[in-house]
Amino acid sequence: MFYLSTRGDTDRKRFSEILLEGLAPDGGLYLPETYPQVDAATLEEWRNLPYASLAFEVLSLYIDDIPPADLKAICDKTYTEEVFGTKEIVPLRKLEDGLYLEALSNGPTLAFKDMAMQLLGNLFEYELARRGEELNILGATSGDTGSAAEYAMRGKKGVRVFMTSPQGRMSPFQQAQMFSLQDENIHNLALEGVFDDCQDIVKAVSHDLAFKRKYRIGTVNSINWARLMAQVVYYFSGYFQASAATGADKVSFTVPSGNFGNVCAGHVARMMGLPIEKLVVATNENDVLDEFFRTGVYRVRASADTHETSSPSMDISKASNFERFVFDLLDRDAARVAGLFGAQLSNQGFFDLSGDPLFQSAAQHYGFASGKSTHADRLDIIRDTFKRFDTMIDTHTADGLKVARLHLQPGAPMVVLETALPIKFAETIQEALGRLPDRPAKFEGIEALPKRVQVMPVDVDLVKAYIARHVN
Ligand SMILES: *Cc1c(COP(=O)(O)O)cnc(C)c1O
Repeated sequence: MFYLSTRGDTDRKRFSEILLEGLAPDGGLYLPETYPQVDAATLEEWRNLPYASLAFEVLSLYIDDIPPADLKAICDKTYTEEVFGTKEIVPLRKLEDGLYLEALSNGPTLAFKDMAMQLLGNLFEYELARRGEELNILGATSGDTGSAAEYAMRGKKGVRVFMTSPQGRMSPFQQAQMFSLQDENIHNLALEGVFDDCQDIVKAVSHDLAFKRKYRIGTVNSINWARLMAQVVYYFSGYFQASAATGADKVSFTVPSGNFGNVCAGHVARMMGLPIEKLVVATNENDVLDEFFRTGVYRVRASADTHETSSPSMDISKASNFERFVFDLLDRDAARVAGLFGAQLSNQGFFDLSGDPLFQSAAQHYGFASGKSTHADRLDIIRDTFKRFDTMIDTHTADGLKVARLHLQPGAPMVVLETALPIKFAETIQEALGRLPDRPAKFEGIEALPKRVQVMPVDVDLVKAYIARHVN
């Protein structure tokens, strides 16, 4: 399997070459040259596999430069009951006839990002050892990504993490999750600024090519193909569970979306032949994606127009993985994609595909639908779900459930992806239900644990100096 860039770079690369890279050199995103096809007979063979074995089967279609026995061992080590809490790893829970939640957030940091990041940690360790190299991951987080990355990389050989976050702006629970890690290879840098300042620092360091090379700086953001690929697996598992429960041969998914990484994995699964009826993109007040699927206009927002909401992991101004879908939508016309996401977005801030027949047939061809949810909707849905189904859901999952209900169809069960547990967003749960969410036993009292964090001003030279001091 070879990978290409959405902007036309045809330098054919294999999986282990793109694993440690972020963007392609031409600024595009990596995708496989073709989507491997899974036929009905194969689906039947996979139906009852344990999750780790299913992951191995799916990943094997995309990775041919890691020996199968090694890849199998990596999958078996990653997707365990010990790490993800249940034997099923992503169990389905019925809410009512035709409507299900798929639990993706029982990993170490209680958000779905663990599903991919835990695999990435093991793939990185394997590949770095094989090459005799080291990698220093520099990132910026406002919550979920940073903790998922740290819990995936803690104690891994050959990897260090330098994670910047805005000082005092994450929830106390999220801060405690990250700052209580005592592993020597994990470094928390709390910058005296906002999230955008952290992102700017990461960009500035990455643009200093000499520094980047000397200190082997890498990233783990959601555009990494390996993360997306790992997420494809739980669409297969969700499909098998929902079709077994209902006898239906097509299943729909609703996905709480921000950067379009999660739902893009659903798109890939559908392109592989998984019988997905609809892929519903759910946004919060930051409705960049809902606007596109309704109107054909993709309009990135300025920071000032990006709302701070009670589903903060979906508070985005642009959707960094969206380019992958547009590439497929435009029949893989890389020159056109390069124009839209390059000059057009930088000059105009938007592009408009409403007049293009390829956009007009997108819903039919690719199964996409969308919708938007607000703070008031979240509160309503959290209350309603608790009252009627005795199930507490988090704010992001609530956005998903709200939008899913607008797209229910007889004959195709709807699976809503649960992307975090309510304990991460306790304040809004308190507002909705007048009580705090239950806390998993392993997180009892984490706010009181000793913290390992370096507070510093927003200053790229100080961040660089800190990295230099901690890389030998
Ligand atoms: C990251 C995240 C999302 C958004 O996922 P994307 O892949 O960016 O679309 C939704 N919910 C939670 C809880 C998240 O952490």
